[in-house]
Amino acid sequence: MQSLPYLIIGQGLAGSMVALSLLERDAQVVVADDGHPQAPSRITPGLATPIAGPRLTFPPSGAAAVAASWQRWRHLECRFRRRLLYRHEILHAAGGREELQQYHRRLAESAFASWLGPAFTPGAHDGLLADPWGGFTIHGGLVDVPAFLRTVDEHLRSTGSRIDRRIEPQELRDCGDHAEVGGAHYQAVIFCDGPAGQENPWLSGIGLQRIPGEVLTVAPAYAVEPYIFHGRAGYLAPHPGHRGHFRLGATYGAPDTPARVTDAAREHLLGQLPRLLSRPPHMEVVDHQAGARPATPQRAPVLGRLPERPAAVLNGLGARAMLQAPYLAEALAEHLLTDAPIPEGCLAPASA
Ligand SMILES: Cc1cc2nc3c(=O)[nH]c(=O)nc-3n(C[C@H](O)[C@H](O)[C@H](O)COP(=O)(O)OP(=O)(O)OC[C@H]3O[C@@H](n4cnc5c(N)ncnc54)[C@H](O)[C@@H]3O)c2cc1C
Repeated sequence: MQSLPYLIIGQGLAGSMVALSLLERDAQVVVADDGHPQAPSRITPGLATPIAGPRLTFPPSGAAAVAASWQRWRHLECRFRRRLLYRHEILHAAGGREELQQYHRRLAESAFASWLGPAFTPGAHDGLLADPWGGFTIHGGLVDVPAFLRTVDEHLRSTGSRIDRRIEPQELRDCGDHAEVGGAHYQAVIFCDGPAGQENPWLSGIGLQRIPGEVLTVAPAYAVEPYIFHGRAGYLAPHPGHRGHFRLGATYGAPDTPARVTDAAREHLLGQLPRLLSRPPHMEVVDHQAGARPATPQRAPVLGRLPERPAAVLNGLGARAMLQAPYLAEALAEHLLTDAPIPEGCLAPASA
């Protein structure tokens, strides 16, 4: 069955990355996507945040995932001759003394230190960041996710390997050593279906969650410097490819509650601005979107073959997908083609 293609369900961030990783290893792929407008990959501001949270941690798949993902974005930029990852300093306003102490501890750890910039005292960014405790800089960036999805879409279409439709999980037939749908045969199905995976019976044992979130696109009344302003009140980040526009986000709803645009979230996000910027300009709201982050209760991504089935999965990327998905897609391709073990920090479908 070596010559059969893989069928990838979903061409969001995960499915796009997995398709490229398999194609680069000379495997064949067919990618199906239903174009759901609320797919998180279509609404994410694309913050590439290597270190985050009050304890200043790497995403679940660790320091290796962050470094390898960053490199992989740069590799794909060269390959497709398109700008995908924009480097921006993250000006992080510390939430208190403990966080500043944690920053100093992290500076002493080499894996963290290379992603950390200097600390600053309160008011050092006068007129910009609201930082009553001061803060520190994190070397981060922004992924132009729409440009990436378009690039992969064009690439797949140029070889006739892109299907524009929803594949119902019930249409997929388990033929033991391969899968079949509509008379076409595949070596295996790879589910990269994001939040929709929660209703996918093939993934029922995994316990995927959806964490709803809303994000605004805003146009400040006067020019704001192109930093990523970050703090406990959220973030304000440049909108790649949209000069003068920023993304203001994001809310976190209770798991598995509906993802929809609400006035309450809009008021909340705009109301947080004075806690983020010391003298926030008036912001015109240009757009307001809602979607769900695909997550797991363990907060770790799920990756690997489904036991005893011609199927595999990459899902549960959570809120920190940009610096995990490229690395995890490479790991999944190696796992499928060479039986390489799944990386640390990930859940195998059998144990999820
Ligand atoms: C408000 C918000 C802000 C976020 N901000 C950030 C951020 O700043 N940084 C960050 O790293 N992450 C962020 N995230 C998280 C990130 O966007 C997601 O983790 C990531 O996009 C998930 O990608 P995915 O490919 O797994 O899923 P998806 O984007 O959902 O892609 C799955 C694709 O599969 C398609 N599909 C599903 N089922 C089927 C089917 N049966 N047949 C055909 N097609 C199907 C869907 O239409 C979709 O296109 C944010 C998420 C939200 C909601």
